[in-house]
Amino acid sequence: KAVNDLASQLRTEVSSRITQHLDSQIKTARHLAEINGDAVDLGLLDYNNYQQLGQFFWQQLQQYNIGYIGFAFTSGDFAGAGRFFDDGRITVDEVSQARNIKQNWYIFNTDKKGNRTTLAVDNGPYIAKEEGWYTQTALAGKPTWNLYQWQSPPYTLSVSANRPVYDKNRQLIGVIGVDQRLTQISDFLRQLNVSRSGRIFIIERSGLIVASSSSEKPFTIVNEKAQRLSAIKSSDRLIANTAQNLNNRFENFKKIKQSQQLDFLLNKERQFVQVLPWKDEWGLDWLVVVVVPESDFMGQINANTRTTILFCLGALIVATILGFYTSRLITGPIALLSTASSAIASGKFDRTVEVSGHNELGVLSQSFNDMAKQLRDSFRTLENTNAELEQRVEERTVELKIAKEMADGANRAKSEFLANMSHELRTPLNGILGYAQILQRSEPLTHKGRGGVDIIYQCGSHLLTLINDVLDLSKIEAGKLELHPAAFHLPSFIQGVAEICAIRAQEKAISFDLQIDSELPTGVFGDEKRLRQVLLNLLSNAVKFTEKGGVIFCVDVVKDAEFSDLNSQLENSTQNSYKIRFRVEDTGPGMTPEQVKKIFLPFEQVGDLKKQSEGTGLGLAISQKIVALMQSEIAIDSRPGEGSIFSFEVELPEAKNWADSSRILELGAVLGYQGDKRTILVVDDRWENRAVLVNLLEPIGFEMIESADGKEGFDRALATAPDLILTDLAMPVMDGFEFLREIRADPQLRDAIVLVSSASVFEIDRQKSLDAGGNDFLPKPVQADLLLGLLKKYLQLEWVYGETVDAGEQAQQAMMSKMQLPAIEIL
Ligand code: ADP
Repeated sequence: KAVNDLASQLRTEVSSRITQHLDSQIKTARHLAEINGDAVDLGLLDYNNYQQLGQFFWQQLQQYNIGYIGFAFTSGDFAGAGRFFDDGRITVDEVSQARNIKQNWYIFNTDKKGNRTTLAVDNGPYIAKEEGWYTQTALAGKPTWNLYQWQSPPYTLSVSANRPVYDKNRQLIGVIGVDQRLTQISDFLRQLNVSRSGRIFIIERSGLIVASSSSEKPFTIVNEKAQRLSAIKSSDRLIANTAQNLNNRFENFKKIKQSQQLDFLLNKERQFVQVLPWKDEWGLDWLVVVVVPESDFMGQINANTRTTILFCLGALIVATILGFYTSRLITGPIALLSTASSAIASGKFDRTVEVSGHNELGVLSQSFNDMAKQLRDSFRTLENTNAELEQRVEERTVELKIAKEMADGANRAKSEFLANMSHELRTPLNGILGYAQILQRSEPLTHKGRGGVDIIYQCGSHLLTLINDVLDLSKIEAGKLELHPAAFHLPSFIQGVAEICAIRAQEKAISFDLQIDSELPTGVFGDEKRLRQVLLNLLSNAVKFTEKGGVIFCVDVVKDAEFSDLNSQLENSTQNSYKIRFRVEDTGPGMTPEQVKKIFLPFEQVGDLKKQSEGTGLGLAISQKIVALMQSEIAIDSRPGEGSIFSFEVELPEAKNWADSSRILELGAVLGYQGDKRTILVVDDRWENRAVLVNLLEPIGFEMIESADGKEGFDRALATAPDLILTDLAMPVMDGFEFLREIRADPQLRDAIVLVSSASVFEIDRQKSLDAGGNDFLPKPVQADLLLGLLKKYLQLEWVYGETVDAGEQAQQAMMSKMQLPAIEIL
């Protein structure tokens, strides 16, 4: 764009200068022709005095840069002055019949004032009035231009301004011609120096060259005559092509009416062209053409671009070299730093970096060394601390190990002690409770005696409860208490628990109210024994501590939103789960919040001292722990003087097959059983244990066989083939486990029913005995109901019950039995 602008400006500028030049040059010739003509018309110039006329013209030539001024007369005479010779001197010419009849052309040298001095040359005959410029002007009768070529060397191309001169009678005197040499215009064009290879040329509308900036002559010599040159035929390639292009573009040079800027391609190079019509009042009509090749501008620009690229490359190379050395200067110390930091990272803290100078890297190196030193110190301290810590940990570990061993030992000792103690305590209790039950059932006693037996039984039971509670607690604390869930019948379970407490409430003359939710499930899956333990504890406490008013035992189903969500999720499964709330409310003494906080701790009792002696302070502690095993907790709402509410909620899955699990809830005293007499073998090393069982079972029709150890028991079993065997576990000679294995290995006894009865407190023993082949387990001291239940189950017995009698009635019956009754037949 810049080039375009520049080319445009240049062309415009050059064109305008040429126009100015042409104006001034051409006008001068015209003006001189006019002035001279006017001078003659006014009579100021004596045109008959050829010498004066020549001198006058000579003087005008001194003033103006003009080629020639001449006056051709109708007579054929001629007077003039001009630059005839190539050397540029101005001569004065004359052709006159007076001087020479042949009208020869005399050319005179002049002095400095234009006076003729010597004849320079006699140019031979010359008839000026035959020249084109004369005839055409004379014919036109008005001033005209005439462009013509001198027919003798230097063949100057001239344009002459011609003016006809008339006398008073309008008779033609002659024609004044002022020649402007066009070579002068060419010189001027050459001076303009438009660009290195640019061209300027002026052409006539016919296409003939008027002037051009090229060195080429604007004419050719044909047959010794000068012929003007057409621009299209110019030997200058640029001029010829430009002219050709203009001619093609405008069809004809005559059609170019106004100044135009255009361009065309010559050998693939763009050429900028300006063509400008130039006219004169007397009829000159030329075209000034300026043509500039783009390469003249681009040449320099391209050269500059090349230079710039070279400079850039040079700068890049220098910058790269400088960058290389600079980076080497910088990376050297950084590399040292990085090696040192890697060394430090791998634990070589004694590495340092050489500090060079006080620049940023120097400061960095110094800081790095300081850091390394600090790290060194810190690590040393850390190592020492670590070593100290390790030693301390080791010491502590040893201490802890010893402490743990001691604790384990103590724990083992405690467990063993508890097991042994419980075993030792249960064995005599078995005798006490067993015989108390036998006495209660069968022996006729006095009223007082029966009361005493009852007390023995109650005290024994209490002692047993205490032992069981202590054991439970220690088991729970050792994390050994586990729940044994099974399917059971919920309504009868609640009924049974309630009944026990209702009896006690009745005895105390307080009300007992059982409220059961109708939506309770029938069968549920849970640890019946533990649930009963908790409920009995809560209910018996309520009855125990309530003196007036009563106790409400409420069981209902909780329907909270969250829980029903869970249930709906379970809908597809075969089981539903119920959240059941057990609630025991009493109108007893109640407790303060401080008391409430304490009662769940073992052996903690609050309130009435008299009542405290009736309990152990263990019940709630155990109950809370059992409920915790069931993922719940017992909540208390108690107000002193008003009463307490104990409640807890447990989630129990529904069990539809509850009926399968046997449950015995028989009432009334067993007197015997229907069917054949059954034989039972009792294997126990303690005679009192054997005696309890024999005395319990013989009266209701069983045949009892006794053995004191496993070996003897096995032999007896082989010999007698009993219907059922009751065996102890801990025995001399052959213990219960061995005895069981022998029986199960023997082809004859393999299917015998064996019940294991032991005072062992460990659940594991119970499980082990079942694994060894025992059909069931009966804990010692033996509970008559439980024993009878097991016998009914395994021997498929149908009990024969007698009426339930109280102690007084029993005594009466005993007295009656002493009377001799008549024989049956008599009766
Ligand atoms: P125990 O009843 O054998 O003494 P518990 O652990 O069952 O032991 O109860 C601890 C104590 O909590 C009781 O001694 C009693 O002071 C208090 N307690 C328990 N239940 C009630 C109740 N329903 N009303 C008032 N006090 C109660």
